[in-house]
Amino acid sequence: MINVSVKCPHCGKSLMDSKKKIDNRPSIKVKLTYAGKNAPLHLSSLYGSYNVALDLNIPMRKIAGFRCPHCNADLKSTRKCDLCGAQMVAFNLKGGGQVQICSRRGCKKHILEFQDPKSELQAFYRSYLKNFR
Ligand SMILES: [Zn+2]
Ligand SMILES: [Zn+2]
Repeated sequence: MINVSVKCPHCGKSLMDSKKKIDNRPSIKVKLTYAGKNAPLHLSSLYGSYNVALDLNIPMRKIAGFRCPHCNADLKSTRKCDLCGAQMVAFNLKGGGQVQICSRRGCKKHILEFQDPKSELQAFYRSYLKNFR
């Protein structure tokens, strides 16, 4: 599996949290907002893993807001999920490119985009798709 390392597309600060481990790796930390409440959300940094740690109770199929824990910028992207129509949320990969996830709870849509088309990771991802889908 690919281990991603991401930063905020707005302030450029790292979203990696080495204190909170998920899947035995540093997690991705964002601020989740739902129904006027907010709580830290930790996502697995393993691409393809849906393990999360969240203190807020968000019903399945509801759409949450994602914000940067440093600058509070809204992380939603211009792209909509092609599975459910909700807004996607974008993080910048430290090595260039973006990873986007769907903001709807329970929707597993995610996209990984690399800036460098020749990157090793992309080649790895292509073979990952070929072998596992
Ligand atoms: Zn930020
Ligand atoms: Zn979706």
